[in-house]
Amino acid sequence: MEVLVADDDPTTQLMMKSSLERLGYHVRLATNGTEALAILGSENPPRLAILDWEMPGASGVEVCRWIRTGGDEPYTYIILLTSRTSLSDIVEAMDAGADSFIRKPVDPNELKARLRPGHRMLDLQRQLIRAREAYRYQARHDGLTSLYNRTAIVEILKHALEVGPVSVAMLDVDHFKQINDQLGHDVGDRVLVELGRVLSQSLRPEDTVGRLGGEEFLLVLPGVDTWEAARVGERLRKRVEDLQVTEAGRVLRVTVSVGVATAGSHTPYTELLKRADRTMYAAKHAGRNKVIVWSDDSPDMVA
Ligand SMILES: [Mg+2]
Repeated sequence: MEVLVADDDPTTQLMMKSSLERLGYHVRLATNGTEALAILGSENPPRLAILDWEMPGASGVEVCRWIRTGGDEPYTYIILLTSRTSLSDIVEAMDAGADSFIRKPVDPNELKARLRPGHRMLDLQRQLIRAREAYRYQARHDGLTSLYNRTAIVEILKHALEVGPVSVAMLDVDHFKQINDQLGHDVGDRVLVELGRVLSQSLRPEDTVGRLGGEEFLLVLPGVDTWEAARVGERLRKRVEDLQVTEAGRVLRVTVSVGVATAGSHTPYTELLKRADRTMYAAKHAGRNKVIVWSDDSPDMVA
């Protein structure tokens, strides 16, 4: 692990460097506050810093204050090096955001002991950040297909409608219940995963796909007119039709019914979803494995 040592005294620098290297640290040295600030402000700075209180350029306490104004993420664990021991000095340093102290002259055993809580804190923060990222991901993604979940895809649709016209395509797997009932939910799940992969691989970078729930998927196509959206829907319908899921040596084929609808930015997202839902059901009624496009008068069949 990297540690920054900032001290203007060559003897202290040498002593700290050899003690820390013996403990397995990679040491970066700064001889004044300005250098310390430059190192801590660089990309990928050391997360542990040992700062001399009295040094030219900027004092350890000033460096400490500057670091803390940058926020706590990722955290820099700061130990101040000082011969000051009065209560008011300690309070000042703590107020500036120091985590710990080491008295000069530095005792190598104390140095080792003072660094330990630093490691604990940095490890804990790393774990918390990782857990938070995982929760954030889970909150917006479907656990099975890894596509956006309903909440996320609807939110994406809402944002897209704030910007301009949007087309959506709602896809529903035909006779999905039969797959689950006859071949088991494992097979049904695999079909959904394969389908999700085909859908996400078939889109432009600006398009998004999510799983609305069950065997229903939604594509959000910003700035795409109805007829282009119908072409997208037809292309996907065909790709799904060509998809082969092998199960116990057997080739399984599935089809989807697709409802396409377009709305201007003034339209509520609920209305757009309702239209797509109605055309998707119209595709089911028209015999499935079809794309139906919404028109103002009546749903209009294209394929
Ligand atoms: Mg000094």
